[in-house]
Amino acid sequence: MICPICKYQNAKITDNTNGADRSVILCQNCGKFEISGSALATLSNRDKDFELSYSIRRRYLRNERVYLNTTNRGEIMGGIEIPKRIKDIAESILKDVYTHDDMLSHGLSITNDNIASYAIEDTNRLQPILQYLEDIGWFKLMRFGGGGALLTITGTGIEYAESIVNPNFKSKQVFVAMSFNHELDVIYHEAITKAVEQCGLTPIRIDLVDFNDEIISNVLSRISQSRFLIADYTDNRPGVYFETGYAIGKGLPVIYCCRESDKGHIHFDVNHYKFIHWIEVGDFKTELVKRITNTGLNS
Ligand SMILES: [Zn+2]
Repeated sequence: MICPICKYQNAKITDNTNGADRSVILCQNCGKFEISGSALATLSNRDKDFELSYSIRRRYLRNERVYLNTTNRGEIMGGIEIPKRIKDIAESILKDVYTHDDMLSHGLSITNDNIASYAIEDTNRLQPILQYLEDIGWFKLMRFGGGGALLTITGTGIEYAESIVNPNFKSKQVFVAMSFNHELDVIYHEAITKAVEQCGLTPIRIDLVDFNDEIISNVLSRISQSRFLIADYTDNRPGVYFETGYAIGKGLPVIYCCRESDKGHIHFDVNHYKFIHWIEVGDFKTELVKRITNTGLNS
């Protein structure tokens, strides 16, 4: 069938067996998503919607379940940044190739059929992007009919990818830096742990792990193996600044958090970052899940 969103010709549809008014669609651009009967009917008669296709794909890659109906397009696109400038699109192509072993070894074939995966609206727009990728030296290009090309990564491409891709993008571990004040245990267990686990990842807090090594080297090696760091500045502990600095030096993303009533104590070096200021367990957990998924840290 034709994908109702990106118009790819060979999408697959499975009707839900229990008679519910929704179908499951598998598309090479959009990924896997569910769609209501009325949305399917409406969108099938419309032009392709590459921005919605791109947003569904990002959510699918983060293992989120997407259900599209006639009213929730905005909700599905919420928090997803669509690359618009040539450089942003080029970087997203580079990241994609670099983080997929099959594309790294065999290259990426980019054609009119799959440009929606990279938020490219039409083939005319593809040409300047291919030109840019070639000129900047990230890829070797073999062009073929219909404006498509096979892209194979170069040494320059790998070098640049290493500087922009999280070095631990395959790790499931998330390091949590925070005060060990027992009053905050509930925050660790009920907000942070639950949010991280909901995103398919595993939190680690150093006081909860058995270790024989000297504490500092243990902390550093645990941070080095983590995908990202959650730094909670409540109680303003020096250790949290130290661990954050180490993570930044390692090129790892950091999510900054602090209890609303403690935010006045944060040192000026870090207080310009985008903090999650939480009031209680529930809102902290919700905001944390949102931040992890919206920034693609679990995809
Ligand atoms: Zn599609």
